[in-house]
Amino acid sequence: MIHPGATLGVIGGGQLGRMFTVRAREMGYRVVVLDPDIGSPAGTIADQHLAAQYDDPTALEQLAGACQAVTTEFENVPAGVLDRLADRIAVRPSAAAVAIAQDRILEKRFIRDHGFPTADFHPVASAADLDLAWQRIGSPALLKTSRLGYDGKGQVPVDTLDEAAEALRHLGRDCILERRVDLEREISVVLARGADGMIACYPPGENVHVRGILSTTTVPARVSPALATEALGIARALADALEYVGVLGVEMFMTGTEGLLVNELAPRPHNSGHYTLDACVTDQFEQQVRALAGLPLGETRLLTPATMLNLLGDLWRDGAPPWDRLLALPGVKLHLYGKRHARPGRKMGHATCLAASAEAAAALARRAAQAVGAVTASPSPASSG
Ligand code: AMP
Repeated sequence: MIHPGATLGVIGGGQLGRMFTVRAREMGYRVVVLDPDIGSPAGTIADQHLAAQYDDPTALEQLAGACQAVTTEFENVPAGVLDRLADRIAVRPSAAAVAIAQDRILEKRFIRDHGFPTADFHPVASAADLDLAWQRIGSPALLKTSRLGYDGKGQVPVDTLDEAAEALRHLGRDCILERRVDLEREISVVLARGADGMIACYPPGENVHVRGILSTTTVPARVSPALATEALGIARALADALEYVGVLGVEMFMTGTEGLLVNELAPRPHNSGHYTLDACVTDQFEQQVRALAGLPLGETRLLTPATMLNLLGDLWRDGAPPWDRLLALPGVKLHLYGKRHARPGRKMGHATCLAASAEAAAALARRAAQAVGAVTASPSPASSG
């Protein structure tokens, strides 16, 4: 067990690393952040910021020397880095779990091997693989890079073999061809698993994407108790199978014809779990600290229905958004990540909208979005990005 007063490390200094840093420091830990960007959101508020590449041997040596345990805020940590650190200090989640989550092919095979359905897919390593993949999957499909895709980047909808070939040239790396399924709804389960194997799940959240980027998450999700139980069961089983320690996000599709499909695993706190900061007894970043430190996990109980609204860089097109209009709405909480440059699609912050029911929270989020000029989508019935 690593008690408050000790030093924890986080690889990656974006918003997830920042919210981890805030919670860890509130709980009395010191935090060291490794991120090459000298202005990174987490680095600027950490006790120590190692501004170096993620595989820089000197920086990794310093990180291992300064910290009792290290976690990561993103899945694309270069292979070997977590393994190297694990020789010296506790690394949670493990390199093996992160390696699976950072590669769509390994990830989907892992999910299927454990008996859970995914959308049909076929690996495409080169143009030569495409014919067979197309025969197996067919139209409509998505070509996705097998690694390094996020927020809808690295994926192209394709309806013909020619389009798929063009998309493969454009993406220029190993891909998977995945069947485009009929999305009724998207949900995610965020959970924490402790070093002792105990699991604490948050309720399934209902996610709406706009242009491939998460726009809103609403809890409780509009799912039947049976479906919620199924989603939680899948997420728990996958966390156990990965022998996972830390916070895990499991994204799922609700489809009309095929039931629940697992889309992907995020080996870290998840954007769809940000509402927990304002709406749960213990938030997902505190859980990350607790799991990393080997402490008991906290209670995940939802205190109030909530909708999280992402605030993207698009809102800064005419300067800073009118925060006073947003904050004039009762029940709205603002979180900004301290990013210096706003770019379209860049996650700059989020607002949590708290209300007496999920419907009221979603309605409040629409008013909040209007107040700052954000584009939202209707959460029902389909919400494909
Ligand atoms: P991903 O990068 O896999 O998380 O995909 C980003 C978003 O694209 C998802 O949240 C969905 O809205 C949409 N999407 C991804 N895969 C599929 C699929 N197989 N069928 C339909 N929509 C998808």
